[in-house]
Amino acid sequence: MIVVLKDNPNPKQLDNLIQWLESLNISIHISLGKDTTILGLIGDTLAVDIDLIAALDIVEDVKRITEPYKNANRKFHPDDTIVDVSGIKIGGGNFQIIAGPCSVESMEQICFIAESVKKAGAGMLRGGAFKPRTSPYAFQGMRDKGIELLMEAKKISGLPVVSEIMDLSQLSLFEEVDMIQVGARNMQNFELLKELGKVKKPILLKRGLSSTLQELLMSAEYIMAGGNGQIVLCERGIRTFETITRNTLDLSAVPLLKSMTHLPVIVDPSHATGLSRLVKPMAMAATVAGADGLLIEVHNDPAHALCDGQQSLTPEAFADLAKCINQLLPFAY
Ligand code: PEP
Ligand code: MN
Repeated sequence: MIVVLKDNPNPKQLDNLIQWLESLNISIHISLGKDTTILGLIGDTLAVDIDLIAALDIVEDVKRITEPYKNANRKFHPDDTIVDVSGIKIGGGNFQIIAGPCSVESMEQICFIAESVKKAGAGMLRGGAFKPRTSPYAFQGMRDKGIELLMEAKKISGLPVVSEIMDLSQLSLFEEVDMIQVGARNMQNFELLKELGKVKKPILLKRGLSSTLQELLMSAEYIMAGGNGQIVLCERGIRTFETITRNTLDLSAVPLLKSMTHLPVIVDPSHATGLSRLVKPMAMAATVAGADGLLIEVHNDPAHALCDGQQSLTPEAFADLAKCINQLLPFAY
């Protein structure tokens, strides 16, 4: 349920309303917007008499929210959320490109890529240390050592870093990581999401391989219910019957999600297509569709990458993409 307040509500009456709602075990999320103040009511609101609230002097309107996601709902928070990753902002008109290798492979590799993508205009560096691989025999990532190398690249380049967590037991290793990624395969790892709700760090939440947009938002809701509202959503392609591309990029997810939620939405055309030659056109399309940013895999030597070389751009191709995206931004939806 949301309660839209009139301008300058009487503070005493507002306080009484909040206290009464809290006595009914309803928790309240206050959104001070540009134009209106909204109280978002979370809990069993069936017991709340909607007519009684509507009759109050300070109340402009009351509506029941039928969607199961509340904190993430744009109706609760009409203004865009801006996520701050160690000073780099995403959302609410702030567009960011996050770039880097699928996995951290060596000090030289991650530092070289960090400097190259920074020079080309990336706002953040990505690099996997813990890799979710389909085969247990494939490279699993450098793990703790990978995080250490990522920290070196952060120091050298000055870029905030993003890396994927696969299990709760790894959380202590992520203290210096600026944004924690929850990968597609873990989107519905609810115990992990609950713990990340308690963390004071932005979360990059990727859409599951076969998850609906509502399921993605319910996963964000898990994190938000724990108190962490700094979430960036990522469309990274979904499973369809097509086999030429690794996944199928669901571009309509961008404007749809942006109408459903106030959280920033970025697109990962690398995992969505699996083919480096499709990354630039899909990045352009995502930008025009209104994405708040892009996640792009970049490797100094894609042919010899330990993971996802086929979809990785060279630093030169990335620089070309970044330039093109900058030119496109004024035309974004
Ligand atoms: C990744 O970003 O490296 C990754 C594994 O992505 P996804 O979870 O989308 O497959
Ligand atoms: Mn990858």
